[in-house]
Amino acid sequence: MIQVAINGYGTIGKRVADAVREQPDMEVRGVAKTRPNFEAETAVDKGFPLYAAIEERADQFEEAGLEIAGPVEDLVDAADVVVDATPSGIGAENKSMYEAYDTPALYQGGEDADLVDTSFNARSNFEDATGADHVRVVSCNTTGLSRVIAPLREAYGVEKVRATLVRRGGDPGQTSRGPINDILPNPVTIPSHHGPDVETIFDDLDIDTLGMKVPATLMHMHSLNVTLEEEVDASEVRDLFAEESRLFLIPERMDIDGSGTLKEYALDAGRPRGDVWENSIWEESISTVGDDLYLFQGIHQESDVVPENVDAIRAVLGEADAEESIQTTNETMGIGL
Ligand code: NAD
Repeated sequence: MIQVAINGYGTIGKRVADAVREQPDMEVRGVAKTRPNFEAETAVDKGFPLYAAIEERADQFEEAGLEIAGPVEDLVDAADVVVDATPSGIGAENKSMYEAYDTPALYQGGEDADLVDTSFNARSNFEDATGADHVRVVSCNTTGLSRVIAPLREAYGVEKVRATLVRRGGDPGQTSRGPINDILPNPVTIPSHHGPDVETIFDDLDIDTLGMKVPATLMHMHSLNVTLEEEVDASEVRDLFAEESRLFLIPERMDIDGSGTLKEYALDAGRPRGDVWENSIWEESISTVGDDLYLFQGIHQESDVVPENVDAIRAVLGEADAEESIQTTNETMGIGL
């Protein structure tokens, strides 16, 4: 059994812990937290051994009645691999600790690409992570773009990608984020950083991205234009995407008109936390004009990277190939709406 440590038990970390627990070949060795909040309490309720990310604060957990298994260093030492899901920039600070214990580490999209040996998307470049010590699972938006670009490149070739990302202001739990009543060009400079981030997954991809922020918490929305290397009928692209396990084509009959109904559907379908692990592409939006493809897709920022982290664990340890790992992860998590 692969022993997995999770350092940083917030939005991403707690979801990765639950997903790892579902895997037949993995065990959550423990989770590390900085403070005894509600997430620390649920970690204990779920039976995850709790470690103190900052040793001097260990007594705060004891005072809150939460038993601490030890300092985070003990957890990193005991694990085969660590998933660092701390806030942006903290992963870079933690790198030397992972190196000291010779434990391979996965970082999240908030870290810089040059921190790691390779950036990772399971569908696009699984093998690049084999044997690597430091791997970055790319951000929610980059994951969403990569999942669409990979099959298009393979099937038709991609000349140029242009994407406008309408980004949620914050996650539902991020009470201090905004805007509350505005529409921001964000980042205001063009291209946004997302394009270069996608280029860390694909060599020689030509992509420009623009970002905006809006008063929403549920999901991001991408408006995508891909110039293909050949003219393709929209129905062919729909068939191509239908074969992709992490692309959900929203059928017209479902009457899902936006991210609100999409999340409602995920909750009705019994998804934990209402998570939507797949890209959600409005099937009717898939259109072609000459060699230009257009579509709209919803990206659930809190969860689409979760199966990618699970696959990255197998990739770094060389425990499975891409197809095998993706299939196991999909089956155990229930991916495929
Ligand atoms: P979060 O704030 O919800 O969770 C981070 C957790 O780490 C918190 O519980 C925090 O208390 C804890 N923490 C802080 N300092 C720590 C330390 N030194 N050691 C251990 N734990 C520490 O953040 P998040 O949204 O889960 O983001 C984590 C990473 O994932 C970031 O790199 C982010 O860019 C990336 N990411 C976030 C999203 C998203 O939409 N939330 C999507 C994809 C990727």
